Amino acid sequence: MTAPSRQLPPTASVVVIGGGVMGLATAYELARAGVRDVVLVDRDTFGAGSTSRAAGGVRAMFSDPVNITLGARSLETFRDFPARFGQDIDFAEVGYLFLLSTPDAVAAFEAAVALQNDLGVPSRMIDVAEARKLSPLISPEGLRAAAWSPTDGHCTPESVVLGYASAARRAGATLLPNCPATGIEVTDGRVTAVQTAAGTVRTGTVVCAAGAWSAEVGAWAGVDLPVSPLRRQVLVTEPVPDLDPHTPFTIDFDTSFYFHREGRGLLMGMSDPDETPGFRLTRSDDWLPRLGEAIERRAPALAGVGVASGWAGLYEMTPDHNALIGRADEVEGFLYATGFSGHGFLMGPAVGEVVRDLYLGRETLVDVSGLGAARFRGAGARPELNVV
Ligand SMILES: Cc1cc2nc3c(=O)[nH]c(=O)nc-3n(C[C@H](O)[C@H](O)[C@H](O)COP(=O)(O)OP(=O)(O)OC[C@H]3O[C@@H](n4cnc5c(N)ncnc54)[C@H](O)[C@@H]3O)c2cc1C
Repeated sequence: MTAPSRQLPPTASVVVIGGGVMGLATAYELARAGVRDVVLVDRDTFGAGSTSRAAGGVRAMFSDPVNITLGARSLETFRDFPARFGQDIDFAEVGYLFLLSTPDAVAAFEAAVALQNDLGVPSRMIDVAEARKLSPLISPEGLRAAAWSPTDGHCTPESVVLGYASAARRAGATLLPNCPATGIEVTDGRVTAVQTAAGTVRTGTVVCAAGAWSAEVGAWAGVDLPVSPLRRQVLVTEPVPDLDPHTPFTIDFDTSFYFHREGRGLLMGMSDPDETPGFRLTRSDDWLPRLGEAIERRAPALAGVGVASGWAGLYEMTPDHNALIGRADEVEGFLYATGFSGHGFLMGPAVGEVVRDLYLGRETLVDVSGLGAARFRGAGARPELNVV
C-alpha cells in the first residue's frame, strides 16, 4: 500500500476526521454532490472504531421526531444499498420488537408510536400474544404489551463501510486510513488546517466524525463536544435449534436485553449499569450474571445455548443520549456529527446527507438545530427515550 504521506494532499475543501459510518457517508455525499478535494482521514482502518462493533440494528422507532426521520431516511438507503452502491449488506427486514413490562413504558411507547405513524412509519402497539407469535423464543411472563415496526431490521456494518468507502473514492474523495489527525489550526476564529501524522492539510472546513474520540478533536479547535466513551459488549451464540429465520430484533425494554439472528445463532447484548466511562475494549465477564438472569426470565429456551464468540465496543455517549449534529458557534468551519449514544450506525446514511447540506448551506432533510452541542450550555437537553 502507498504510504499515507505520499497521498495526503496539501489542500482540501473539507477534511473529515473519522472513517466510521458517519465520516464515510459524509465524504461520499459531499463528493457525490460535486464538492472537490474532499479528504477523509482515519487513524486506523475504516470502520475500526464503533461501527464494525455495532449489532447492526436499523430502525425508525424513536421518541424524538428528528431521530424518527433520520432513522426512516436511512432505512430507505439500507433497503436500496445493493442497487445504489453495488454492495450487498445482508439487510434483513425482520422488524423491531420492543417488549414492555410497565405502565410507564407502555404509555411512553404509545406516544412514540403515534409520532412515528404521523411521520409515515408503520409501527404499532400489539398485545403479548402477537409479540410471542412474532418472536417465538420469548416468555410472556410479566409483559404488558409490545411495540412493533415491520420495516426495521438489521444489516452488516462492515459491508456498509465497504460500500460507502468504495463509492466515496469512485466519486473523487481521497480516503486515508492509518493517518491520525493530531491537531486543528485555527486562525482569527476560523479553521485553517488539519494536522495529521502524515503532514498538514490546509482547509477551511473540518468535519468531526470521530465517534467516541470526538471530545479530543473538538478540544483542538476550542469546541466543546460532550461525548464520553462507554464500553458495551455483545455475544454470538452457537446455532440455535429450529431458529425462526424471521426472528425480529427483539428488545426487552425493562432490562435492555436484546437479540437478533446472526447466521444460525443469535447476537445478543445488554447494558451494564456498573460500566464506567473509559476507552476499555477488553472483554469482561462482570455483566454475564445479569445477562444470564435476563435470558432465564425473557428467553428461557436460550439458557442452554453455548456462546461462540463476542466482542466489546464503545458507545459514544452524550448527557441526554441524543446526537450532536451541527456547525460550531465557537469557530468558523467546524462541523460535527457525533455522540449518537449507541444508535449511530442506523443513522449514518441520513446524517451524511445532513452534513453535506450543512456544508453547502442547503436546507437539510430535517431541522437538526435542536441537536447542536450548544444545547448543553443552556437548559436545552433533548432526551431520546428509546435507547438501550
Ligand atoms: C456493542 C455495540 C452495539 C451497537 N449496536 C448498534 C446497533 O445495533 N445499531 C446502531 O445504530 N448502532 C449501534 N451501535 C452504535 C454504533 O456503533 C455507533 O453509534 C456508530 O458506529 C458511530 O459511528 P461513527 O462513525 O460516529 O463512529 P466510529 O465508527 O467510532 O468512527 C469514528 C472513527 O474516528 C476515528 N478516529 C478517532 N480519532 C481520530 C483521529 N485523531 N484521527 C483520525 N481518525 C480518528 C476512529 O478510528 C474511528 O474509525 C453499537 C455500538 C456498540 C459498541
